[in-house]
Amino acid sequence: MVNMDVQALQDRVSQLENQVATLEKLVDVSVVLNSRMQLDPLLKRIMDVAVEIMACDAASVLLWNNKKQQLFFAASTTLDNTNSLIGTPVPMDSIAGEILRTREIVQVDDAQTDPRHYDKVDEDIAFETRSLLGVPMTYKNKVIGVLEVINKRTGAWTQEDRRYLMILAAQAAVAIEGAQLVMELRRANEELSEVDKLKNNFIAIASHELRTPLGVIMGYASFLQDHEDVDTQSHASKVLESALRLRKIIEDMVNLRYVKQKQSDLHLETLRISELFDSLWMESQSLIDVDKHEIVIKSPENDAYISVDHTRMIMVLTNLLNNAIAFTEPGNLIHVEAGAGLTDKEVRIRVADQGIGIDPEQIEKIFEEFYQVEDHMVRHHGGLGIGLSISRAIVEAHGGRIWAESAGIGKGSTFVLSLPTVPAPTNGATSNEDAKATPES
Ligand code: ADP
Repeated sequence: MVNMDVQALQDRVSQLENQVATLEKLVDVSVVLNSRMQLDPLLKRIMDVAVEIMACDAASVLLWNNKKQQLFFAASTTLDNTNSLIGTPVPMDSIAGEILRTREIVQVDDAQTDPRHYDKVDEDIAFETRSLLGVPMTYKNKVIGVLEVINKRTGAWTQEDRRYLMILAAQAAVAIEGAQLVMELRRANEELSEVDKLKNNFIAIASHELRTPLGVIMGYASFLQDHEDVDTQSHASKVLESALRLRKIIEDMVNLRYVKQKQSDLHLETLRISELFDSLWMESQSLIDVDKHEIVIKSPENDAYISVDHTRMIMVLTNLLNNAIAFTEPGNLIHVEAGAGLTDKEVRIRVADQGIGIDPEQIEKIFEEFYQVEDHMVRHHGGLGIGLSISRAIVEAHGGRIWAESAGIGKGSTFVLSLPTVPAPTNGATSNEDAKATPES
């Protein structure tokens, strides 16, 4: 009697030990499944664990395709190397279909006599399903698929098998949903970068194709401006004016990418402010309507050194100068100067005009992408409203700041650039000459 009790106790202990081992496996697998695996290795892992815990021959994962309203084979351990089953839809009156519809666990002890058994799969892969246990995989109250285990090696499926498979299916559902989301995100990202590439290529080709005929138009219009007939002169001026507006729009299109200027893409060199201003002066000679204003570019008395991407910083300053010219009546003064900042680690460059000024409400908005104060229908100045956003992106990539100041409408505007100063190069020459970027067309 005592012996019997000891035996029963030992059986119970080994039963409990088995349960603990299985639970440990489930805990282990939950950690792995939560480690954001990709879908295919994830499904394989789920099935391997299912086969091991259930002590059976095979396992399959079927997923619900919401778009096609179909249940299909996502993975199976019974597959040969061709993986021909993957993606095959499964009818809704099959066992898996019933599990999906009813959200109930289904146990089949003799598949060959069960009318719901979908034997086409067995035929396709030369496999014999004898017994089957299937559970729904549910995530946030939504059935995302079915997990099936096939052919229990000894005996019939037990209460514990059902319980463990349910636990595994619940974990699998969360992990599969996560992996599918990541996959969708990756796909969307790839599509986006494809579109981005297309857009960049389009801009590059279109701007090139537009510039060539525009050059011809501008050439002839300039030539006709010198014509003796006054009407011809005036018509030619109008053509030239429009052509210049078009040129500004094309330039903006080409420069659009600098709205996302990265610090790592800058070609930095140490320059004196006066060197930058000399280049700005040269550049300014080719600006539209430059001869209609008085432009003063004044080099500082205390010349500071800055570490800048020459091409990009000239782009910022010509943007500001172009705007000052565009928004100031001819004959007025436009002033570019540099001065000390709040500390000796900062220098401030100011581009000041006596133009239309800026409403205090607009003073920050003008730095937003595609923002223009005036309605584009009444604008006579070309541009896409991105010059200032590009300027801000470039200045910030340099570790600096840019802002606008104005006493209000009609009272002129000043754009201030604050840039960090750097120590003078020890050999007195500008450093990093090799990295100097070639000006972009
Ligand atoms: P856009 O090239 O279309 O002018 P920007 O980004 O350079 O685009 O400028 C945005 C808007 O900021 C302009 O449309 C204009 O309304 C305003 N703005 C820019 N510079 C000045 C300025 N110097 N004086 C008055 N308004 C200005």
